[in-house]
Amino acid sequence: MENRKTVVNALSIDVEDYFQVAALAPYIARSEWEVRQCRVEQNVDRILELLDTFDAKATFFTLGWIGERYPQLVHRIVQNGHELASHGYGHQRASEQSPETFLSDIRLAKVLLEDTSGVEVKGYRAPSFSIGEGNPWALECIEQAGYRYSSSIYPIQHDHYGMPSAPRSAFRPSIGLLEVPIATVRMFNRNWPAGGGGYFRLLPYSVSRWALQRLNRVDSLPAMFYFHPWEIDPHQPRVPGLNLKTRFRHYVNLGRTEARLRLLLSDFRWGRADRIFLETSHEDDTLSPAADQVRAIC
Ligand SMILES: [Zn+2]
Repeated sequence: MENRKTVVNALSIDVEDYFQVAALAPYIARSEWEVRQCRVEQNVDRILELLDTFDAKATFFTLGWIGERYPQLVHRIVQNGHELASHGYGHQRASEQSPETFLSDIRLAKVLLEDTSGVEVKGYRAPSFSIGEGNPWALECIEQAGYRYSSSIYPIQHDHYGMPSAPRSAFRPSIGLLEVPIATVRMFNRNWPAGGGGYFRLLPYSVSRWALQRLNRVDSLPAMFYFHPWEIDPHQPRVPGLNLKTRFRHYVNLGRTEARLRLLLSDFRWGRADRIFLETSHEDDTLSPAADQVRAIC
C-alpha cells in the first residue's frame, strides 16, 4: 500500500452541470441552459468537503459559463488550495468550432476566471477531449490564448473522442505548451482508459485501482484522472428521450461513484496538475521525440 502511495497523481474535476454534457447536447437546446435547475454548486461543495477529508488537492477545469454565475464557488475552489483551470466558456467541442471561435471561447473563459479569482489560470481542458488528429490547430490556439498547459487529449480509441497515436505521458507539442494526456495503461499492443469518467463508473473499482497502480509502479508515471460534479449526483433530473447508449453511459452507477471516489482518495495520493506536471517540466527542455511524433501525425 505505501509503495503505491509514493507517486502523487493529478485529480481533476470538469466543472459543468448535467445539462451541459456534450453527449446530451442533441437533447437539450443551448437556450435551455438559462432555465434549467443548476446543481453544480452543491455538487462541487460536496467534492470540496470530500477532498478536505482526505487531505487531497485537485485541479478544477471550470466552465466560464459556470464561473460567471457562481463567483463564490470559484472563490471557494481557490481558497481551499485547489488549482482553478479553464474548461472554456460555452462547452462546445473544439472539433466543432473554427479556430477563430475556439480561440475567442477559450480567451473569454481565461479572462473571466482570472478576473473572478485573482489568480492566473494556467491550464485548459477541451470539452470531451476534442483535440485529435483532425484539429492540431487547437493546441496552437491554447498556447496563443496564454495557457501554459492543456489536458485535452485522451490517447484511446473511442467513438466520440480520442487520439490513440498520441503519447501517453506529458509532452510538449510546442515550446510554450505542455499537453498532459488522460491516464491510460498499455496492454496487448493498445492503450486502455484508466483516467476516470464513464469507465470509472462502469467497471469495478478494483480495475481502476489495478490500472493506476500499474501506471505508477510499472510505467513510473503520475496519472491524470478526471470526473464531473454530476457523476456524484444520482438525484439529478432525468433527461427524457435519450437513446439507449447515451442513457446508459450517463446514468450508469451514479449512485456508486462517491463511494468509489472515497476508495480512490484513500488508496492513492492526489494533487494539483500544475504542481505535478508544470513545475517539473521546463520550457527550455528539449522537445521530446513524442512531440515530433505528434507533429508528424498532425
Ligand atoms: Zn466537459
